Amino acid sequence: MSEPPALYLTGIMRSYAQGERSLDILRGAELAIWPGEIVALVAPSGTGKSTLLHVAGLLEKPDAGEIYVGGEPTSLLDDRGRTGLRRTHIGFVYQSHHLLPEFSALENVVLPQLVAGLTQREAERRASELLGFLGLGERLKHRPAELSGGEQQRVALARAVANAPHVLLADEPTGNLDPETAEHVFGTLVTLVRATGLAALIATHNLSLAARMDRRLTLLDGRIVDMDEAAARQ
Ligand code: ADP
Ligand code: MG
Repeated sequence: MSEPPALYLTGIMRSYAQGERSLDILRGAELAIWPGEIVALVAPSGTGKSTLLHVAGLLEKPDAGEIYVGGEPTSLLDDRGRTGLRRTHIGFVYQSHHLLPEFSALENVVLPQLVAGLTQREAERRASELLGFLGLGERLKHRPAELSGGEQQRVALARAVANAPHVLLADEPTGNLDPETAEHVFGTLVTLVRATGLAALIATHNLSLAARMDRRLTLLDGRIVDMDEAAARQ
């Protein structure tokens, strides 16, 4: 039997109430991402990229539809079950790093592992290995404010994958970086995905980065469309 998608979303509906009206953001969105794939999500602002990532990351519940993580449906899980699954299977990276300012790079990567039940020693070993892999071996003791924007995002990346998730979701992770730094952070991300067999879904406005991912998706009227197929049809 073949491997299930790392992440599979089907029939996803999500609306927000706006006064008397309802704003239908996702209208039957479908998506499957396999282990080892890096997929770009490129769509104009306000079309629902963040909403989709939050739903995929079990941070927000859809109004309808199902999210399968590693082949397992998630809609019947209670809050604890969702949180547990998110902690072990899903990593999230935001546009701004969201690191804890009073903790070092190392501690920021250690913390989620302690929450997941690793010992301090194991967590520190893995955190320094990961940060070293991401080129931050000399920055372990630095606090976020003592790091450059690109370094902060690489620490955020290390934190997101600290518990060896199967899925990495990134919401415009290089959006605040200059083009050269964005390129470097993206290069690190690709290396990480290739080395671990993660499945990654990355919302970005950067078309040259998107061009280097395995597939490009966009949102059209609340549904997910393959950009390359849409372009080929025209
Ligand atoms: P994107 O990430 O593509 O810019 P979002 O997913 O953030 O888009 O938002 C999609 C639309 O949904 C926007 O029009 C936004 O204003 C609206 N929206 C997002 N979150 C909420 C919310 N919590 N309440 C009401 N409207 C929201
Ligand atoms: Mg957004």
